[in-house]
Amino acid sequence: MKLSTKIIIGLIAGVITGIVLNLASPDLFAVINDYILVPVGKIFINLIKMLVVPIVFFSIVLGTAGLGDPKKLGRIGIKTVGFFLVTTALAISIGLALAFVVQPGTVGSFDTSNVAFEAKEAPPIMDTFINIIPSNPISAMAEGNMLQIIAFSILIGLGITMLGKKASSLLTIVEQGNDLMMYLVNLIMYTAPYGAFALIASAVGSEGYEALKAMALYMFVVLGALIIHGTVTYGLAVFLLAKKNPFWFFKQFAPAMSVAFSTSSSSATLPIAMQTAQKRLNVKESISSFVQPLGATINMDGTAIMQGVATVFIAQVYGIDLTFSQIIMVVITAVLASIGTAGVPGVGLIMLAMVLKQVGLPVEAIGLVMGVDRLLDMARTSINIAGDASCALIISESEAKREQAKA
Ligand code: ASP
Repeated sequence: MKLSTKIIIGLIAGVITGIVLNLASPDLFAVINDYILVPVGKIFINLIKMLVVPIVFFSIVLGTAGLGDPKKLGRIGIKTVGFFLVTTALAISIGLALAFVVQPGTVGSFDTSNVAFEAKEAPPIMDTFINIIPSNPISAMAEGNMLQIIAFSILIGLGITMLGKKASSLLTIVEQGNDLMMYLVNLIMYTAPYGAFALIASAVGSEGYEALKAMALYMFVVLGALIIHGTVTYGLAVFLLAKKNPFWFFKQFAPAMSVAFSTSSSSATLPIAMQTAQKRLNVKESISSFVQPLGATINMDGTAIMQGVATVFIAQVYGIDLTFSQIIMVVITAVLASIGTAGVPGVGLIMLAMVLKQVGLPVEAIGLVMGVDRLLDMARTSINIAGDASCALIISESEAKREQAKA
């Protein structure tokens, strides 16, 4: 049986096991969860997380050195960030539109008297830009600060290209380091079906189904917007810009999306997402290694969708009509909030505070959507990484065309 099939089976079996245990016996679930599901899931996540920093470092150094020319890097950088910004703005617009049509906050009753959510002060947006340059690359790696690692690796890659022969053995080390990391990803992928099974069974089994019922319409809108964005926006982008069949894209990329679904973390999924894009979507290594780590850090369309829908939902629950200028404000702040969201579970919800504050909605209202966020996080993380992969594919194809035309 193919590994991708096994992962999907693990996922489905996880959902069924979680639901059955949850309904049958919460006590039995608690024991199985504590002694089997949580440990297996945690080991799997650690296994892949372990590779994130070295993979990002080796592959970006190699990718930058492979591009050779700083001008090419600049062109790819502009295309990448442009694609990220446009698709994220589209994502929020789809979320907002669907929320205004379905009006999830007006159906049913929501108790706002004792919602609670302590918002941490969001860092000023300028800090995010300043902090891209690390003052200490080792501590950036120790902390797993992705943007800083990316900046450092690009400089090293550029330096190696510029030094040419003088640094040729360093380049060989990086090449071999990259091969080694890819080999380890391959190896760890064999544990993915079991990891996905344990993570999903644990998440689904811990869910309170009463809370789900009350929030069904909100969840429906978020999931609907995620599906529309995935199929229409990415589907069209892949079809029109990369001239590839969208069905092929999703079929090939499904294993990575399943891992994102089970881990709820773009950053942890990165090694598998990169390998899947390179091996199954035939994205050029130098492009995948640049676009996907950047995307896993700043491009979160699924998160932006949730933030847009949650804002409208909360406004509706509190009976507040959003003005046109407030809606534009939501689009702008949700783009920024999703850029600032780290690729780890649940951070999108924390960054929602920034959007709510900006339009004057009560931040503690996040407590309303918190209960169902775990499940939505799984779905939006899959969309987050699909966005990065579609961008990588499109740029890889367009660069290939450029080279062909030149030749
Ligand atoms: N879990 C998401 C991710 O890693 C971020 C979020 O929306 O909370 O992509």
